[in-house]
Amino acid sequence: MAWDFETDSDYQTKLDWADEFVRTEVEPLDLVWPHEQFVPLAGKRRAAIAPLKDRVREQGLWATHLRADLGGQGHGQVKLALLNEILGRCSWAPIVFGCQAPDTGNAEILAHYGTPEQKQRYLRPLLDGELFSCYSMTEPQAGADPRQFTTTAVRDGDDWVITGWKYFSSNARTAAFLIVMAVTDAQADAYQGMSMFLVPTDTPGIEIVRDVRLYGEPEAMGQHALIRYHGVRVPDSALLGGEGQAFVIAQTRLGGGRVHHAMRTIGLAQKALDMLCERALSRETAGDRLSAKQFVQGFIADSWVQLQQFRLLVLHTAWKIDKYNDYKKVRKDIAAVKTAMPTVLHDIAWRSMQVHGALGVTDEVPLMKMISGAAVMGLADGPTEVHKTTVARQVLRDYQPVEGMWPSEWIPGKRAAAREQYAAFLDRTEAN
Ligand SMILES: Cc1cc2nc3c(=O)[nH]c(=O)nc-3n(C[C@H](O)[C@H](O)[C@H](O)COP(=O)(O)OP(=O)(O)OC[C@H]3O[C@@H](n4cnc5c(N)ncnc54)[C@H](O)[C@@H]3O)c2cc1C
Repeated sequence: MAWDFETDSDYQTKLDWADEFVRTEVEPLDLVWPHEQFVPLAGKRRAAIAPLKDRVREQGLWATHLRADLGGQGHGQVKLALLNEILGRCSWAPIVFGCQAPDTGNAEILAHYGTPEQKQRYLRPLLDGELFSCYSMTEPQAGADPRQFTTTAVRDGDDWVITGWKYFSSNARTAAFLIVMAVTDAQADAYQGMSMFLVPTDTPGIEIVRDVRLYGEPEAMGQHALIRYHGVRVPDSALLGGEGQAFVIAQTRLGGGRVHHAMRTIGLAQKALDMLCERALSRETAGDRLSAKQFVQGFIADSWVQLQQFRLLVLHTAWKIDKYNDYKKVRKDIAAVKTAMPTVLHDIAWRSMQVHGALGVTDEVPLMKMISGAAVMGLADGPTEVHKTTVARQVLRDYQPVEGMWPSEWIPGKRAAAREQYAAFLDRTEAN
């Protein structure tokens, strides 16, 4: 049976290339264009970045998130994990490698559920990195509980008319199209009564009320739109998948998306740990280097162990996705990864920040951004608490209640059974 903690040597060579390339060519983009990852390329930015994308394509590492039959490179999730943990160091890297959220998840549902025309119109340019997409599901009054969504799509002749509002629709301001989830049958159970629509962003009736900014983001650079849909009319061909299929599609969309976030988080947490170790070795106080202080050693050891545990959980989950090719069979694992992710990033970045002293809380090092990024990871694609309940429910499926009053590991009962089993071999005192 194959059981290996190394990838094949050809792919490792590519990973080594990617690591060097990201550190030397891509990380500087975070400093010159820190907030423009999702602004379509034009002018000098295109001149700088298009050749970098070409180099990624030459390596066969472009858009590795999809299976070959869905239009991707077909490397699988384990290899994607190994690549993503390199890309996670820097916010431009996923764009330069054509595998950034939320476009990866959106591409995945287009590939699975799109008609040939929808794939031609939306998926092809999305995979080519020529446009951005937006997933418009959450509403101001309801996020974690989609049963409370109120945005409707009503049939009118050959068209659908979408009315309502959506919140935190990331990248709507620069996306070419929106994937909108709307109630299409209010009488049906919520899980069968909603559908997904592909809506070009320039369709009349779409109003971006405001672009909400995350903490620390500059004025006018908010990415998370509050959108009003004022009777937005789309043809029947805008329906993605079947009518009433929104929940099934959403699970495909979010399953992969959550794991990809986790893969990148490994890279970011590793960067925080790298910074922690470098600082500990470099700074001297009270007659010694910080690395000689036991508190700091504890920080380093705890961080390393936490990161290794998380990385193995993510890689194992990726391996299961490749093996089963069915997100439903990996639900517990994906929820577990999503649950662990914010804590791992928070804890390691926090320790690193503390060891950096005052410098750690400034905007001259990226640690506070990582800490607020950890908070974001606890909400985006569903809150931690919801994922914890999923893990618990899935774990409990493998258990049964005990019959009678005592737990099955109740020692007096087990001892009596054991003595009976081995009675022939026990002398009188042992048997009592
Ligand atoms: C950076 C970022 C990007 C996002 N991008 C998108 C996007 O592109 N498209 C999109 O549609 N949405 C997006 N979202 C929205 C995200 O999916 C929601 O924020 C998330 O689902 C939670 O919904 P909510 O904010 O309404 O919180 P609520 O549903 O109001 O939940 C608030 C809190 O209540 C608790 N809670 C809720 N439900 C339960 C439960 N069942 N059991 C126990 N506790 C519970 C949790 O502590 C939770 O954090 C994004 C969010 C962020 C932060």
